[in-house]
Amino acid sequence: MRLQSSAGRALLLVALLLPLPPGEGRGEGSTSANKHPSPNLATAKIIDLSHPFDEKTIYWPTSPSSFKLEKLAYGDTPGGYFYSSFAFCTPEHGGTHLDAPIHFSKTGRTVDQVPVRQLIASAVVIDISKKAEADADYRLTAEDVRVFEKAHGPIAVGTIVLLRTGWGKRWPDRKRYLGDDTPGDASHLHFPSYGREAAELLVRERKVGALGLDTASIDYGPSTDFIVHQIALGAQVPGLENLANLDQVPEMGAWIIALPMKIAGGSGGPLRIVAVVGR
Ligand SMILES: [Zn+2]
Repeated sequence: MRLQSSAGRALLLVALLLPLPPGEGRGEGSTSANKHPSPNLATAKIIDLSHPFDEKTIYWPTSPSSFKLEKLAYGDTPGGYFYSSFAFCTPEHGGTHLDAPIHFSKTGRTVDQVPVRQLIASAVVIDISKKAEADADYRLTAEDVRVFEKAHGPIAVGTIVLLRTGWGKRWPDRKRYLGDDTPGDASHLHFPSYGREAAELLVRERKVGALGLDTASIDYGPSTDFIVHQIALGAQVPGLENLANLDQVPEMGAWIIALPMKIAGGSGGPLRIVAVVGR
């Protein structure tokens, strides 16, 4: 008994001395991103970064279904009051949504396990819209991140990084947004996103809280290995995809509130995300 309990204490000591597992320090408790002054919610401008869910909502070409809203009731009742109610059905990964770490990582958190603290943080917006306009397959480079940091200072731990590609304006035109609108075929897609080295720098060195953008994926259209998903989700860093209105969010100073539907065990889900900008 005595030996077991001292062995237990030794194990606990070792666990305390080991480096924190991936994900720790990004979402639990205070992070450097939270030390940025937060805007006053009473007077701040709130920008809606979610596209509506409807029959035009864009899903991955191989998705077996899309958003469905079924009317259960709508109209005046015998009781004299109006009543309406609907049922909705959607794959997790379509429209404005969150990729939970388990989407590409066996040991990743499910959507209900992502700490909400990680999803409410100060943000930076990195603009690659000019480069993406010239090259639809443009990927953010580590150098782009360093240039951004030279102008704005280092990206703090826990920051929600948003990539502005200009693609939000193409929504909901499937062909222009995804680069191809062939149903069931995801092999001819073209749109910009994060690149591998930039993702490694942001996730492993800067320890950011989330990677978001205004295209369909945190990997660019032609990707077949989804390496940015592997890097980010493998480190408990969620993706925020198909964001709207990023042109209205300043490069520095905004706070993000990105709360997905709390699907127990889910690999992602519909996301209502807003930017809070002081004024
Ligand atoms: Zn997704």
